[in-house]
Amino acid sequence: MTSALHTAPTFSPAGAARLALDLYGLAAEAEALPSERDQNFLLRDASGARFVLKIANSAESRPVLDLQNRALEHLAAAGTSLQFPALRRDANGAEIASAGSHAVRLLTWVEGVPMASVQLHSPELLASLGRALGEIDAALAGFQHPAQYRENFYWDLAQANRATEHLHLLSQPQRDLLMPFFLASSELDWTPLRRSVIHNDANDYNVLVDASGSRVVAIVDYGDMLESALACDLAVALAYAMLDKPEPIAAAARVVAAYHRVNPLREAEIEALFPLSAARLAMSVCYAAWQSREAPHNAYLNISNRPAWALLERLARLPKGWPAEVFQHAVRPARDLLGARRRHLGPSLSVSYQRPLHILRGWRQHLYDASGRAYLDCVNNVTHVGHCHPRVVAAAQRQEALFNSNTRYLNEQLVEYIERLTATLPAALSVVYLVCSGSEANELALRLARTHTGRNGAIVVDTAYHGNTNALIDLSPYKFNGPGGRGRPDHVQVLPMPDPFRHPEADHAAFLARAVADSTGLAVFFCESALSCGGQIILPPGYLREAYRAVRAAGGVCVADEVQTGFGRAGSHFWMFETQGVVPDIVTMGKPIGNGHPLGAVATTPQIAASFANGMEYFNTFGGNPVSCAIGLAVLDVIRDEGLEENARETGAYLLGRLGDLAGRHASVAGVRGQGLFVGFEIVRGPETLEPAGADAAALINRMKEAGVLLATDGPHHNVIKIKPPMIFSRADADLLVDRLDAMLP
Ligand code: PMP
Repeated sequence: MTSALHTAPTFSPAGAARLALDLYGLAAEAEALPSERDQNFLLRDASGARFVLKIANSAESRPVLDLQNRALEHLAAAGTSLQFPALRRDANGAEIASAGSHAVRLLTWVEGVPMASVQLHSPELLASLGRALGEIDAALAGFQHPAQYRENFYWDLAQANRATEHLHLLSQPQRDLLMPFFLASSELDWTPLRRSVIHNDANDYNVLVDASGSRVVAIVDYGDMLESALACDLAVALAYAMLDKPEPIAAAARVVAAYHRVNPLREAEIEALFPLSAARLAMSVCYAAWQSREAPHNAYLNISNRPAWALLERLARLPKGWPAEVFQHAVRPARDLLGARRRHLGPSLSVSYQRPLHILRGWRQHLYDASGRAYLDCVNNVTHVGHCHPRVVAAAQRQEALFNSNTRYLNEQLVEYIERLTATLPAALSVVYLVCSGSEANELALRLARTHTGRNGAIVVDTAYHGNTNALIDLSPYKFNGPGGRGRPDHVQVLPMPDPFRHPEADHAAFLARAVADSTGLAVFFCESALSCGGQIILPPGYLREAYRAVRAAGGVCVADEVQTGFGRAGSHFWMFETQGVVPDIVTMGKPIGNGHPLGAVATTPQIAASFANGMEYFNTFGGNPVSCAIGLAVLDVIRDEGLEENARETGAYLLGRLGDLAGRHASVAGVRGQGLFVGFEIVRGPETLEPAGADAAALINRMKEAGVLLATDGPHHNVIKIKPPMIFSRADADLLVDRLDAMLP
């Protein structure tokens, strides 16, 4: 490919002024304007009237210039809200004059500021861009010209892959970044895309805006016009509209929505927008590399280059399909999702945040909403190995398509899974039951304990939550002492929370002794290995050892509820109970076990399992089905293969350190604690009283959400900020979280 830069005109401003006089009888001063492969001069005559003198590349064909002239004429007559440059004929009445091998045209000047020089692109401006381009495209529908088929034009998005011949000019990381974008555009199905003559270069230098900076008044430079897919026109505009934006997809969605209102797009066209605009950016950086080697002094060639690379890096991290979902959402009439929930869902369900999130996509440690915004997810511990982990998704899809039923058939997935799961546990806990949720796991644990001991009584820790069944509400002070609760049932004793921050001196041995003494027929002690609902509390060393000893001495069974804390979150150990140096009689698992798939498990000793096998079968229709087992296995594989325990240890320690510094700077932050990626801190009124400030904590998480970071509150006073992100949470994520907190806290 030879560059059109070799055949570019090289007139000086004085030469351009001479041309204007010779060809058009126009006495004017000339000033050079930026251009890629032609030359454009701003002419100003004595009366102040302004024109653009366009001197074409000598490789430019006259029919293509005529295409532009006819299109401009057509658009000016179409009655849009926009201005278009008008063509001036030369002294001989010709539209296209000549200067040596170069074609020359004179156009009237269009008033306006390039969008590229408007500092802040308001939502109004972005919508105005969409409307303007929509008007142009609607006006060009049906426009025909013999020169509209530009078969070898390198800015044609249909030929995006031609740009890859310049990849060798880039570094390997740059090539790796671009290749998926070229690939995605080459895989596009163009057949459902309507074809039309399009402007094809609505970049932010060609889009002119009024003095208020909120309205597009013209789109100029028709030099790249051609017949292509209609969607390409908008895709090009989006590529530039996304540059330098804090939320590029949200910005693009505003343009798309406004365009669609003027010139409705088809579904396939909306799908194509993102891959096409990313391809345009990829082409642009390739051609910039090529052209800047050939013409190192043409600043225009590199003008969008740095922001384009930065944008490409951001776009590469976005989950597949999300931009298209956002664009489809932007053109649909809005549904009142909250209203529909209120009408048809039980009203005892809540929604997070004052302004609830409408999430379209989860990917790794981020959530992506319908407006085009991304959020760092610091709370969804269920999606343990990251949202929509490809290995987990693939395992689910594969097994779902092969076979899914209950556990009454021999099945390799089941056997491999129970072997792998028990291998993570102390040898004594060699028997498992597979269920569908944390509640089912705890419900079964309670039955196991009661059947094994022949007794009924339970000891739990204050503010605990163990599940949503009748029996488990009775074991959950968080519920029975909370709104709508009926108080503590007689068969349950409640221990004060072992909270080293609030009650460092508490005599837990005495509390335990009293609870055991007050129990009539103690069957079971239920305790999380670190307290979740209680407020992300790390148990004091030796707490469980002492408790288990006292409970067992009274004939009770010890259950470790690892629904929130298990599967490596502790960092130092696979199970949080291991940090306490104990072996429970029963371990219950849920949430992270299936990365979001409804799966739960109970592990216990052969002795307890034998007591339970009293003739009554335990059957669970969905528990342990082959799909669940395939998913559970994939989760275990990913934890191991991606070193997530180690990450929890290192990132967790780093995060704790940074939160400790934060507490040093903000009087409202206290009680920073954590183990691995199970972390919390308290929002308090002040350092003297340490009075819990629940309302401030709620306000903080709402503000953090608006700043793109998702957190939640917990604890008896709802003043604990809980942090239990997907286990792929990185140092950079920890930095972002703490930096945002730092900026947000008083
Ligand atoms: N135990 C604990 C510690 C929990 O946090 C939860 C859920 N929040 C459960 C049990 C119940 O799990 P599920 O909601 O899956 O029934």
